[in-house]
Amino acid sequence: MTNFTERAAARENPYLLLTPGPLTTSSGVREAMLRDWCTWDRDYNQLVETIRNKLVRLATASFEDYTAVLMQGSGTFCVEAVLSSAVPSDGKLLVLTNGAYGDRMVQIARVHGIATEVIDFGELAPVSAAPVAAMLEKDPAITHVAVVHSETTTGMLNPIGGIGEVAERFGKTFIVDAMSSFGGIPMDVKELRIDYLISSANKCIQGVPGFGFVIAKTDELRKCKGQARTLSLDLYDQWETMEERNGKWRYTSPTHVVHAFHQALAELEEEGGIAKRHERYLRNQQILEDGMVRLGYRPLLPKAFQSPFITSFHYPDGGAFSFAAFYERLKQAGFVIYPGKISQADTFRIGNIGEVYPEDVERLLSAVEKSRF
Ligand SMILES: *Cc1c(COP(=O)(O)O)cnc(C)c1O
Repeated sequence: MTNFTERAAARENPYLLLTPGPLTTSSGVREAMLRDWCTWDRDYNQLVETIRNKLVRLATASFEDYTAVLMQGSGTFCVEAVLSSAVPSDGKLLVLTNGAYGDRMVQIARVHGIATEVIDFGELAPVSAAPVAAMLEKDPAITHVAVVHSETTTGMLNPIGGIGEVAERFGKTFIVDAMSSFGGIPMDVKELRIDYLISSANKCIQGVPGFGFVIAKTDELRKCKGQARTLSLDLYDQWETMEERNGKWRYTSPTHVVHAFHQALAELEEEGGIAKRHERYLRNQQILEDGMVRLGYRPLLPKAFQSPFITSFHYPDGGAFSFAAFYERLKQAGFVIYPGKISQADTFRIGNIGEVYPEDVERLLSAVEKSRF
């Protein structure tokens, strides 16, 4: 395998993106975008069908009961499509939050006038099942439960298995924002009792931004006919068109991005599938966290809650740290990191997903050491 410097020179990328997406992609993924494609012909529609089929098979071994819908826009558009299409006008949503992406689901629900309850676990605690069971006991009007799997705000990997069990026990529809985890960690939507799983092209599948996707339990999705609150984000209509017209999108689709995504799926298979990609991400994260600790940086989360995708670190003690200066120095050295996003502490974040390998993380650590204050 070539090292990042050679790969970067080959594709003239000035730096490695150590961010939660858009992320550093392979040259193969980017080359897939180097020609123009029409949307109406059979080749393109078959490519879309191949992608939908592969996504369902990546999400579950019980693929007969699930289907995939692709939707134009960034990941948030898909979250909005699900919430505004799946919760009926007389339904009620329970959102579990411990960060900005959980809060965003609440915001979306409010914009659409969806009756909503919230359990806020705070930024530093994982979600847990007991308060959810208590809430569902107390408020039988709740019909849907929504949670973020990997909360990118902090790097927290929420234990969603227990939440799915409770949702199923009470007969509620279970919605999971798995934006920054799907493709990077083994999971099965059937085992996790997930009715709607949401993710996007530019996270762990390692495509480029431009569309998101929803893996839905087909029986649940069928219930959404005619209840969407918007036209363009109508999840049922989008699905019905794709299903009946064999891979046709309702409105202009991001053709280049779709081709890049098809290539990204092929490269995921070449890598050995999700289990192998997960191993690489785990190694990246471990090398990163251990190396940063050695250099005196403290991670925000205990290891037990830490995802293999992105890690938050406290600013070093002493008060002299300038994130802006640190960021600039690392960028000069060929690495783009990410600011913090939480209110309770001064932090920055370093992602390790994308076309990023352990030797790249080692090089980052040398650059961090040289950027010391
Ligand atoms: C990236 C991300 C999203 C979607 O963000 P967009 O900017 O709309 O793509 C949603 N939830 C989580 C947890 C994410 O990491």
